[in-house]
Amino acid sequence: MAVGNHRSDAVDEGGEALEASGESERRATAEREALGTPVRPRSKSDFDSSYAGQPPWDIGRPQAAFAGLAAVGGLIGRVLDVGCGTGEHALLAASAGYEATGIDLASAAIERANQKAYDRGLNARFLVHDALDLVSLDGPFDTVLDSGLFHVLSDDDRVRYVEQLRSVVVSGGRCYILVFSDRQSGDWGPRRVTERELRDCFADGWRVESVASSAYEVTLHPGHAEAWLATVFRT
Ligand code: SAH
Repeated sequence: MAVGNHRSDAVDEGGEALEASGESERRATAEREALGTPVRPRSKSDFDSSYAGQPPWDIGRPQAAFAGLAAVGGLIGRVLDVGCGTGEHALLAASAGYEATGIDLASAAIERANQKAYDRGLNARFLVHDALDLVSLDGPFDTVLDSGLFHVLSDDDRVRYVEQLRSVVVSGGRCYILVFSDRQSGDWGPRRVTERELRDCFADGWRVESVASSAYEVTLHPGHAEAWLATVFRT
């Protein structure tokens, strides 16, 4: 009898575990679909509606890649966080004592970023502003942080974006760009970016210091995607 009970418990537990893993896989698939496909760049209204909830890239802390850069003194001077979302990277720079500005097209994201700055007693400025119009900001900047913006831009917008960066980054200033890499399998999420594409985009007026294998943390299983972290200096 005891053996019988034991066996039937084991079957039940196994069944529940299978069901739970099926459910979590279904949820992960739905979340990935909500991120869009890599071939279709997301529009402003896509992003606005993402911030009605908590988008999977909004992990509530800086990406480890940027925290690592801050730890070695890589975020310096006037810092611009482009496509800042809810502001973690501008806040990271502000907490290290630097003058930080975050810009994003999504007003809901900027509202949250301002609230975080207030809650944390940090002095960072957040503006609803287009990354394709950086020259109308009060630059120049010494450091630009791009966590997940470059990989949502169309080919044409990438060119325009890099031109804008060239106009607002001081000579010797640096940009750090974290993108989903072509090493990430699957077709969920943003466009994959190759090392070659990064190097080509920053071929003129920049020195590409490194394109390093990195991770882009997300709230989805398994918690991160394969990424490139590009470090480029304005010549
Ligand atoms: N850097 C944030 C958000 C990454 S998601 C983070 O790491 O959490 C990409 C962000 O870029 C979104 O917040 C989106 O609203 C913003 N974005 C997309 N196109 C933009 C543009 N042209 N100008 C400014 N922000 C833009």
